[in-house]
Amino acid sequence: MENTPFSFDLSWAQQADQQDDLRGFRGSFFFPQHNGKDMLYFTGNSLGLQPKGVRAYIDQELQDWAQYGVEGHFEAKHPWFSYHEMFAPLIAPIVGAKEKEVVVMNQLTVNLHLLLVSFYRPEGKRKKILFEHKPFPSDHYAFESQARLHGYSPEDVLVEMQPREGETLLRTEDILAKIEELGDELATVCFGAVNYYTGQWFDMKAITAAAHKVGAMCGFDMAHAAGNVPVQLHDWDVDFACWCSYKYLNSSPGGVSGVFVNERHHQNKDLVRLAGWWGHNASTRFLMQPGFDPMESAEAWQLSNAPVLMMAAHKASLDLFAQTSMQALRAKSVALTAYLEFVLNAVADKTGQEMELVTPKDPAQRGCQISMRLKGRTKQVVRDLAAQGVIVDWREPDTIRLAPVPMYNSFEDVYRLGEVLVGLLG
Ligand SMILES: *Cc1c(COP(=O)(O)O)cnc(C)c1O
Repeated sequence: MENTPFSFDLSWAQQADQQDDLRGFRGSFFFPQHNGKDMLYFTGNSLGLQPKGVRAYIDQELQDWAQYGVEGHFEAKHPWFSYHEMFAPLIAPIVGAKEKEVVVMNQLTVNLHLLLVSFYRPEGKRKKILFEHKPFPSDHYAFESQARLHGYSPEDVLVEMQPREGETLLRTEDILAKIEELGDELATVCFGAVNYYTGQWFDMKAITAAAHKVGAMCGFDMAHAAGNVPVQLHDWDVDFACWCSYKYLNSSPGGVSGVFVNERHHQNKDLVRLAGWWGHNASTRFLMQPGFDPMESAEAWQLSNAPVLMMAAHKASLDLFAQTSMQALRAKSVALTAYLEFVLNAVADKTGQEMELVTPKDPAQRGCQISMRLKGRTKQVVRDLAAQGVIVDWREPDTIRLAPVPMYNSFEDVYRLGEVLVGLLG
């Protein structure tokens, strides 16, 4: 730990906060309370905090509903007929997309299915779907059921990328080799862009290029990437992606999801998809005629009209993101996550607690999450931490996931977490 810019010291942390240009955002969020004080919140990767503006945004829609009834579709301050259109300019810069490539709709697993209907089209020999080791269970269920939807048994078409013997993380070279090996048997690659458990951020650009080289489609579940790491979905030539908004995008429990569909696919009206009226050409939508005429944008995948109350919460959060940039958030995130890593190592040194940091050390392979295994500890640690005003996430058998979120966490938060851990583990 020589030559590190960091110090496990309160005044060092407070000084780092003073120099943080993003520190003002912290005041825009509600922190859960413990004994009249803000809790130390490290679970923004599970549920982002509530922006203080949310209530006013939802109130606006409730008022307009009360005042206008159905006329609110056109008379509301933000007319509901085109409500979803406000989101493309806000979310596109967060995921590196063109505005017409993104739309906000439904929820995450629903959207994953809708996208797989279009981009997992097994045929003949080409029927396999490749995903990362231990994906989020919902994704695994989606892959299994998509296989069945096409009449295959999951064992025949699902390929889970395994780490090397004795390793937890996946190596990019191995992923690329696997894609090449599967070759013309590979229909679709669909990785969690950042794995929810290890926090590993995969090389999305290289994976996409390798998939395309063998003629496969490539998409990502960005639940743990959206609003966390800077991605360039368009420039990396990704085919499709989806994410939820309630993790790093702070947009309410179970909040609305987003999707990306590369513009390359927009003109293809024959692409198989599940259709609904909100994906139909907006200029003729209200002629209420049969014969689906898809929008020439990601909106073609919309089924239903917008769930305005839920989306109002999303808007409140995205308007905060619009006041900064993913570059600025990323710069702070890299420093704050490195500081957390430093503090955890200092805690292990001071207490003698056996600790394994599972998440990659390389900042290019992680966002703002560190997963640590506390050897010999049980879930009791999490209860003890909560009793001291610290919220973290526990995964059996011995893993704590910590997310220092650049939008609202501080260096002082990280220092104080370390202080509590020293007391608890020592
Ligand atoms: C959080 C998460 C989900 C949750 O799915 P919902 O449909 O929003 O309930 C799914 N997949 C991944 C990778 C996740 O991280």
